[in-house]
Amino acid sequence: MSEPIKTDALIIGAGPCGLFAVFELGLLDMKAHLVDILDKIGGQCAELYPEKPIYDIPAVPYITGEGLCEALLTQIKPFGATFHLQEMVQTIEKIGDPQFRVTTDRGQVFEVKIIVVAAGGGSFQPKRPPIPGIEAYEGTSVFYAVRQMEAFRGKRILIVGGGDSALDWTLNLAPIASHLTLLHRRGEFRAAPDSVNKMMALVGEGKIDLVLGQVSELRGDGGRIAQAVVKRNDGSHFEIACDALLPFFGLTMKLGPVADWGMAMKDGEYILVDTATFESSVPGIFAIGDINWYPGKLKLILSGFHEAALMAQKAHRYVYPDKRLVFQYTTSSTSLQKKLGVA
Ligand SMILES: Cc1cc2nc3c(=O)[nH]c(=O)nc-3n(C[C@H](O)[C@H](O)[C@H](O)COP(=O)(O)OP(=O)(O)OC[C@H]3O[C@@H](n4cnc5c(N)ncnc54)[C@H](O)[C@@H]3O)c2cc1C
Repeated sequence: MSEPIKTDALIIGAGPCGLFAVFELGLLDMKAHLVDILDKIGGQCAELYPEKPIYDIPAVPYITGEGLCEALLTQIKPFGATFHLQEMVQTIEKIGDPQFRVTTDRGQVFEVKIIVVAAGGGSFQPKRPPIPGIEAYEGTSVFYAVRQMEAFRGKRILIVGGGDSALDWTLNLAPIASHLTLLHRRGEFRAAPDSVNKMMALVGEGKIDLVLGQVSELRGDGGRIAQAVVKRNDGSHFEIACDALLPFFGLTMKLGPVADWGMAMKDGEYILVDTATFESSVPGIFAIGDINWYPGKLKLILSGFHEAALMAQKAHRYVYPDKRLVFQYTTSSTSLQKKLGVA
C-alpha cells in the first residue's frame, strides 16, 4: 500500500463527464484526481469512437470523439488535475463526515472529501478467450494488458488477436522477447495497415512467427504456462512453448465494483441521484454522466456536463463548509478569469 494521496475530490472515470467535472470543481477551488481503468483519457469517446463525428455538443456543430477529449483537456488544463490511468477503483470506505478512503486495484489509496462517480457504463474489461482453465494462469502467465514491458524481457511470448492492440504489442515486444509468435484465426487483420506491414516485415526477416489458428488448451503448473496447444485452421494441432500468453480480444463494459459502494441503485445498474445536486444516497458521493439515473435521464454528453455544474455547487458546501458560494459568470468575474489564467 502506498501513502494516501489527500485531496478535495476523487473523480472515478476520465470520460467526457469526469473531465468536465474537473472544470466545474476547479472554478470553485476544488482540486481533483481522476482514476480510470483505461490506458487513455476520454472514456467511450476515446475507446469506442475516436474518429466518429458528434453533432450535438452545444455550440460545437461537429467534433470527433477524440477531438472532444482534446478540447476538454485544453479547457481543464488550468486546474492541474492528476490522472491515474490503468487503475480501477475497487473500494470506498467512509472515514469522516463526509470523508472517504478510496483504494484502487494497484493499491493506491486516496483520502478525499468528496467522490464523483463518472464511471459511464462501468469499467471496460478485456474479453476472455474461450480457453478452458485460462483463469488459473491469469496474472501470472496470461495478461490482458502490458503494464511494464520490462516484465516480458527474455520471455517466450504468444500474442493472440488481429486488432490494433495485438499488432502494437507484437511490434513493441518483438525486440525484447526471446521468441514471439503472433496467432490469429485468419489471414486478414483489423489493425492499422501500417502496423500490419511492419509485422509482416518482421515475419519476413525471421524475427517473429505468424501462425493462423486458435489456442485450444494451455499446459503448465502452478499458474505458469509451459505450452499452448494451437489448433490450426485445417484442424491439426501443434504445441508452442511459451512463458506468457497475451490475448487481445477487445473490451467489454461491465459495471464492476460500482454496485458494491453502498449507494442506492436503479435495476442494480445505475446510481440513483437527486437532480438538484446529483448526489447519491450517500452524502458526499455524487454520480454524473451515463452511470446515474433519474426520471427523464438521457445518456448524452451534454446531460453529464449540466450534472457536473450542479454537482460542484453542492460539493463546495462539503469542501468549504464555512465559505459562502457566490454565483459568478466567467465572462465578467475577474476572480474566475484568474483561475482560468486569462486575467
Ligand atoms: C458509438 C457511440 C456513439 C455515441 N455518440 C454520441 C453522440 O453523438 N452524442 C452524445 O451526447 N453521446 C454519444 N454517445 C454516448 C456518450 O459517449 C456517453 O454518453 C458518454 O461517453 C458518457 O460519458 P461518461 O463520462 O459518463 O462515461 P464514459 O465515457 O463511459 O467513461 C467512463 C469511464 O469510467 C471508467 N471507469 C468505470 N468504472 C471504473 C472504476 N471502477 N475505476 C476506474 N475507472 C472506471 C471507464 O473505464 C471509462 O473510461 C455515444 C456512444 C457510443 C458508444
